[in-house]
Amino acid sequence: MAVKKESENSFSEYPISEDIAEALKLLGYRQPTPVQQAVLPFALMGRDIVAQSQTGSGKTAAFAIPICNEVRWDEVLPQALVLEPTRELAVQVQEEIFDISRKKRLKVPVVFGGMPVEKQAVTIRQRSHIVVGTPGRVIDHMKRGNLILDQVRFLVIDEADLMLDMGFMDDVEYIVSQAGDGRKPQLMLFSATMEPHIDHLVDQYMHDPKRIILENDQKTAEGIEQSCFQTEPEEKFGALLDLMVMENPDNAIIFCDTREMVNTLFQKLRRKKIRCGMLHGGMEQKDRLYAISDFRKGIYHYLITTDVAARGIDLSEITHVINYDFPTKRENYVHRIGRTGRNGHTGKAFSFVSREELHYKQAVEAYIGTTIPWKTLPESGSLVDKQQEFQRRQKEKVVIRQAKGAVFDKDIQKLSIGGGRKSKLRAGDVVGAICAVEGVGQEDIGIIDVRDSITFVEILNHKGTLVYEELQSKPVKGKVRKVKMVQN
Ligand code: AMP
Repeated sequence: MAVKKESENSFSEYPISEDIAEALKLLGYRQPTPVQQAVLPFALMGRDIVAQSQTGSGKTAAFAIPICNEVRWDEVLPQALVLEPTRELAVQVQEEIFDISRKKRLKVPVVFGGMPVEKQAVTIRQRSHIVVGTPGRVIDHMKRGNLILDQVRFLVIDEADLMLDMGFMDDVEYIVSQAGDGRKPQLMLFSATMEPHIDHLVDQYMHDPKRIILENDQKTAEGIEQSCFQTEPEEKFGALLDLMVMENPDNAIIFCDTREMVNTLFQKLRRKKIRCGMLHGGMEQKDRLYAISDFRKGIYHYLITTDVAARGIDLSEITHVINYDFPTKRENYVHRIGRTGRNGHTGKAFSFVSREELHYKQAVEAYIGTTIPWKTLPESGSLVDKQQEFQRRQKEKVVIRQAKGAVFDKDIQKLSIGGGRKSKLRAGDVVGAICAVEGVGQEDIGIIDVRDSITFVEILNHKGTLVYEELQSKPVKGKVRKVKMVQN
């Protein structure tokens, strides 16, 4: 494959194909992050990798770039499997891999619990290049014969320590033992910490892995200003309102210890007409995904959540983290406040601590090696001006933030074609009809998604209008069909 050489993009130092390099450029990735610099040369060489790195370090791209680069477009069965501990992480990682492989037109389905199995089955039974999923649902699809791992040449175990905490290690081991039809896939494991159980997996299944340790001794980023407020439970809600008025955060995550507290706080803030959303494990999967995507889009600026959102999830531009309930596990303090101050930005982390919670604060301080200073809130009466500013922000018109992948959309036009699986229309029929249009070839066709009675196809290189016009009178599998332009 062609090697991209471009002096302004240091990803050009690696032997990656032009379509991947171009996607990275469009995504705005100019310089590889430290974890990418450490992983890429070895992963591209085919070495197994064990990397200890923090979330938010760019580790998804560190494994996604080599995989997307090596995966062959013309194969039907999945060539790579990426295991994620939570559904939200699975979706986020799928999006990143999909973006990186956008120019190569790879299909990257995601499978996880809480959503209908059958719908996912239909998707993964079509041509799939890279499958991302949570262990339980992956095994479910393997056992149902929907997911065949014989051709898997790359396997990623992401957030391995969290997999372990959540009790998924046996499932992970089972999947690893089944992948690759006798030939062991290239294994890449990423973990925030290394524990004996993870070592066992490494010893058992990896061949001479390259070990990469990037985590420095400092557990919390320098750019995060941390402080605590001594607050008893009955004063806490008032204190939170004062804090929010005082800080008027651009984007904040407010952590509670329980689902019930998330619900309660959400209702209370809504009653005060403060725009916010909530996320916890007791919500329907659909609602959980909407909560994250609305927050990312900027539909609301405050997310109230349990520790579900503390790990891995990439919610960029978080300016404030507020521990409404102080975390009872010291590691969670580090994960929670690590949602801010990312990628060289600064951030603030505030915690409410009651007398009963003092020992948790001390435990965290011993763990992170610094004292978290106490602060006091100003009197509510002194916040009148700020109150108006805060209220104004609550009434501001929402300006939707574009998803990162939106940069690809302008070059892609999407068509819908009447007919699908029920009328035995296949992706090959669609390719055939489109390639019969003069001046259009396979390289102009993006993702094809065949549903029950409708098929969606992406047309690249600005040829969508041409294909749309031609297919108004040309047959697709022997029949002229209803073909429409679809808005992305
Ligand atoms: P991750 O640690 O994989 O969750 O990535 C954290 C964030 O960094 C994500 O928003 C990525 O899209 C972004 N990112 C990854 N690699 C780069 C890069 N080389 N340059 C800029 N941003 C990046």
